[in-house]
Amino acid sequence: MSRGHSSIPMASQTHQPHFLLVPFMSQSHLIPFTEMAKLLASNGVTVTVVLTPLNAARFNTVIDQAKASNLQIQFQLLPFPCIEAGLPEGCENMDTLPSPKYHGMFFSACNMLKEPLEKWLSQLETLPNCIVSDICLPWTSNVASKFKIPRVVFHGISCFTLLCSHNIGISKVHERVTSMSMPFVVPDLPEDTIEFTKARLPEAMKQDSKAWKEAIDQFKLAELSAQGVLVNTFEELEKLYVRGYEKVARTVWCIGPLSLHDKFGRDSDKTFTDESESECLKFLISNKPCSVIFVCFGSMCRITVSQLKELALGLEASNHPFIWVIGKNDCSAKLEKWLEEENFEERNKGRGVVVRGWAPQVQILCHPSTGGFLSHCGWNSTLEAVSAGVPMITWPMFAEQFFNEKFIVQVLKIGVRIGVEGVVDPMEDEKVLVKKEDVKKAIEQLMERGGEGEQRRNRAREIKE
Ligand code: UDP
Repeated sequence: MSRGHSSIPMASQTHQPHFLLVPFMSQSHLIPFTEMAKLLASNGVTVTVVLTPLNAARFNTVIDQAKASNLQIQFQLLPFPCIEAGLPEGCENMDTLPSPKYHGMFFSACNMLKEPLEKWLSQLETLPNCIVSDICLPWTSNVASKFKIPRVVFHGISCFTLLCSHNIGISKVHERVTSMSMPFVVPDLPEDTIEFTKARLPEAMKQDSKAWKEAIDQFKLAELSAQGVLVNTFEELEKLYVRGYEKVARTVWCIGPLSLHDKFGRDSDKTFTDESESECLKFLISNKPCSVIFVCFGSMCRITVSQLKELALGLEASNHPFIWVIGKNDCSAKLEKWLEEENFEERNKGRGVVVRGWAPQVQILCHPSTGGFLSHCGWNSTLEAVSAGVPMITWPMFAEQFFNEKFIVQVLKIGVRIGVEGVVDPMEDEKVLVKKEDVKKAIEQLMERGGEGEQRRNRAREIKE
C-alpha cells in the first residue's frame, strides 16, 4: 500500500538504528558508499543502500560478502530512467556514458530517482533513522524533510578542496584574473599559500552557464540544510583544512579513509577479473620492493590514442617495471592496432603488464613491490595511495583533480607533477599534453634512491602510519 504525505511512517524505534544510504551512480561515489555501508553495519547499524539494477550487478561480491558475514546490509533497487532522461539504454553509471555531452542528462536521470525513493519510503512500516546522501543529490533534502528523517551529506573529496573551492567561490578571486594561466592566491586558507589558475579550476566553477550555477547553489543549500557533513578523509591528514571547513559547514565528521576497511575484498566492475588480478599479483611478487610503477586513471578519464602512445613509450623508456591500466573508455581498436604493430607487450614482457578495463587498485597499491603511482589524482585514488604509503606522479585531468594535485605536491609533499597546466576537452582531437620524455623524467624523479625521492617516500610512509 502506498501512503500519502499525510500518513508518514514512524522512524525505527528498535535498538538497532537503520541508515539509508543514497549514493550518486558513479564508481568513485559507489565505492566509498559501499565501504561506508560495511563500516556502519560492522558497528551494529542496519543499512539500506539505494542502487539501480545494473549498478547492483557490479557490486555482487559486496552483496554476497555482506550476507556471508551476517552484516545487516540490504540493497534497495530503483529503476534508472535512462530513456526518460534521454540517455542510451543501460547507462546507469557515469562510466558507461558514450561521451561527456551526456553528463547533464545523467544528472537529470539521478534527480528522477526522487519519486521512486519516496514511493518506497512511504510503503515502509518503519522509517530509517538517518539518511546519508551524496552531495550530488540535493533533492534528498526534500525527501528527508518530507519524511522527517535526519540527514547528513557525504563528500567524497577532501576538506582542502572543499575549503579552497568555497573560498574561491565566495571571494570570486578567479573572476579578477585576466587570463586562464594567470596565478591567483586562494584567499583565507589556514596556512599554506596556495596559488591556482583559472585553467585548473573544475569546469563547474568557471562555466558561466546558469544551469551550472544553479546546480552548485542547490548543492550548497542541501549541505546547509543537512545536520552534518561526512567527509572521506582523516583529521591527521589535513587538520587545518578540516578546522577551516568546519567554519563553513558547522559539523564535519571525518570518516576516512574508507578504503582501509576493505583492502582485499573489493569488487566493483564486471571487467574486474580473476585473471587480471592474478596476473598483476604474480608480476608484483616477481619484482623487488618499491620498484613497480602503477599507472591508473580512475573510472572516468578519457585519453586520446596519441597521448596513450606517448605514455606507453615513456613507461618503456623509464626502465622501471610497470603495471599500466588502460581504462575501459580508452580501450579501442586503434590503440590495440598500435600496441600490436609495435609489439609493445612482447617487447616489454617481464618488465610491464598491461591491464585492460579494471585492475585491483587497492591490492596493487598495498603490495610492497609497488613504489610509485602515476595517477589522475581522483580523491579515492589519492587516499588509497596515502593509506598505502606510496608516493605519486600527478597527472590531473578535470573536476577537482587539480586541487588534489596541489595537496599532494605542495601540502603533503609526496608527489611529482607531470606538468599538466589545465583542464582540456577530452574530445579534442588527438591532443598530446604529456610527452614520453615528461613521463620518463617524472618516473625517474619519483623513483630516485636517496635525495628528494627518498624524502618523498619517507614522508609517504609517515603519513601512512
Ligand atoms: N579503481 C580500481 N581499479 C581500476 C580503476 C579504478 O579499483 O582499474 C578504483 C580506485 O581504486 C578508486 C576508484 O576506482 O577507488 C576511482 O575513484 P577516483 O576518485 O580516484 O577517480 P574517478 O573514478 O572519480 O575519476
